[in-house]
Amino acid sequence: MDYDLVVTGLGCAGLSFVYHLLNSPLKNQRILLIDNDPKQKNDRTWCYWSEEPLEIHPKNSPLVSWNNISLKNGSFTTIKPLVDLRYFQIKSSDFYASVTEKIHAADNITWMLDSVTDIIVRDGRPVVTTLNNGTVTGKKILNSIPLCSLKDKNYLKQVFLGWEIETSSACFDPSRVILMDFETALPSETAFVYILPHTKKRALVEYTLFTKEPFVAKTLLESKLKKYIQEKLGVDEYIINYREEGCIPMTTKNLYTEVKHPDLISLGSVAGCTKPSTGYTFHTIQKHSKQVIDALVECKGGSKLDWIRKARFSFYDNILLNIATRWPGELPFVFQDLFKKNNGQDILDFLNEETTFLQELSILSRLKFKIFIKSLLRYETH
Ligand SMILES: Cc1cc2nc3c(=O)[nH]c(=O)nc-3n(C[C@H](O)[C@H](O)[C@H](O)COP(=O)(O)OP(=O)(O)OC[C@H]3O[C@@H](n4cnc5c(N)ncnc54)[C@H](O)[C@@H]3O)c2cc1C
Repeated sequence: MDYDLVVTGLGCAGLSFVYHLLNSPLKNQRILLIDNDPKQKNDRTWCYWSEEPLEIHPKNSPLVSWNNISLKNGSFTTIKPLVDLRYFQIKSSDFYASVTEKIHAADNITWMLDSVTDIIVRDGRPVVTTLNNGTVTGKKILNSIPLCSLKDKNYLKQVFLGWEIETSSACFDPSRVILMDFETALPSETAFVYILPHTKKRALVEYTLFTKEPFVAKTLLESKLKKYIQEKLGVDEYIINYREEGCIPMTTKNLYTEVKHPDLISLGSVAGCTKPSTGYTFHTIQKHSKQVIDALVECKGGSKLDWIRKARFSFYDNILLNIATRWPGELPFVFQDLFKKNNGQDILDFLNEETTFLQELSILSRLKFKIFIKSLLRYETH
């Protein structure tokens, strides 16, 4: 069967695309979805910020959000109210369940549980090859599966491991998210802990390392996290309700050598929706999905289908990634300065790439610029 649209990969980007598609004039197209996982497990916790929950935010569970963010570096602590914004959290299992329900209600969508082995161009058309169902094709293929090994392995990445823990004593402040509590790391790395506190006794606590090491042992991250819980939170007894881990490349380059074809459209991390200096991707995936659907409705192609970041944001990211690579010990002080001298909403708008150039000048001009000059003098793309 020839489909109008074939969506390969049904994680955050694939399911977001289908969600927005079902709210668009293209909702009656013949659609094939392929993933090798039934998408039922809770395997990640997504956070994003905005004034209101995004339209795609699952309605099948209580809304979880905060209106303060905090940063710690040694004896320095700052708490920033988010003014009009809120920091929202989604459990991936709620997201999968809510979009899946919408998909099952549509009778023009076929869901294939299979592994995609490749996407190739045959007779001038992109074709998906699968492990058990042969080849399939469609007028357009929307792919979020990283199908090739990364071109350049020498990139910085953020490696993280988190536990949602329940403690017997009260040790969290549920009024604020701790975005970064910097830890001492090796001279070549930056490390911090991220905390999403749900109650005084329950929180997701995550240890994160910015590193160029090709392999970081899970046991190392676990021991660092355990040590933080014991020594910084002062907790000896706790139960672990949930675990997650990840590794996100921190680069402004497109790492994926993909087959290029006007009918093959990349989504999600593969399309470059991940912010290189922070790893946040969820909100950009929503913007990109809507942009692609608008382009498909208007029968436009080319750059309308790509996620293209403004050059100046790639420049800021490269400056920061340069610091993270060459002078990782300085990075906590760069963030400390950013948080100390700017308001919470401006910081998050800047990180979401939603500021104007004048706002950026105002945010950046408040910072100590010696380290930025150093980074500029040895500027390179990462
Ligand atoms: C633990 C974790 C927490 C994160 N937290 C945040 C956050 O708080 N905020 C934020 O903005 N970003 C966050 N991110 C980053 C980013 O939002 C996620 O990685 C997001 O899931 C990326 O979406 P994606 O669709 O590109 O990739 P994925 O969600 O990984 O989807 C890829 C899909 O492809 C499928 N697949 C892979 N290989 C094959 C194959 N060969 N055949 C068939 N199917 C295949 C997978 O099963 C998966 O469903 C987090 C990442 C991780 C790992």
